[in-house]
Amino acid sequence: MTELVQVKTLDTGRVEEIREEVAQKLVADGVIWQQGNDLYTAPVDEEFKNALRDPSLMICDFCSSPDVGWLFPARNYEMFRSEGVERVSRDEWAACEICAHLIDQELWDLLTEHSVKSFAATQPMSPLVSALLTEAVKANTARFSQHRTGPGIRVPGKEDDDT
Ligand SMILES: [Zn+2]
Repeated sequence: MTELVQVKTLDTGRVEEIREEVAQKLVADGVIWQQGNDLYTAPVDEEFKNALRDPSLMICDFCSSPDVGWLFPARNYEMFRSEGVERVSRDEWAACEICAHLIDQELWDLLTEHSVKSFAATQPMSPLVSALLTEAVKANTARFSQHRTGPGIRVPGKEDDDT
């Protein structure tokens, strides 16, 4: 699975996990900067969020497809990580066309299945790892379904796909 790094925004203190390659790009663009080994900081939360809305930087939060077409608004929530107390929150989930369709129909089991299959396609997996991954994806999907606040919003530049 993809390597995630944490970005803390200085004005709100919000922490978001983003992919490492996205972090590198945002550092190059001067939106965020690296501090220490894997903590990044962004001065202004809103600017950081806007920078992340670049469709070329997004992957589907469910199946990791690079072809993101939708953003689903969700309430912030706190997630506690096992290696220490870290508060991570997010208020938008990116989805590809397939996952967005499954979300619209609230087909959570199919969504989980599709996500696991997509991960499995990228790397070989033992049955144990596959079972653990399924549980993790199920939990992720359940969290999303509990925190979603509305229908998906078209990603800018993807509107043409509707025709
Ligand atoms: Zn997807």
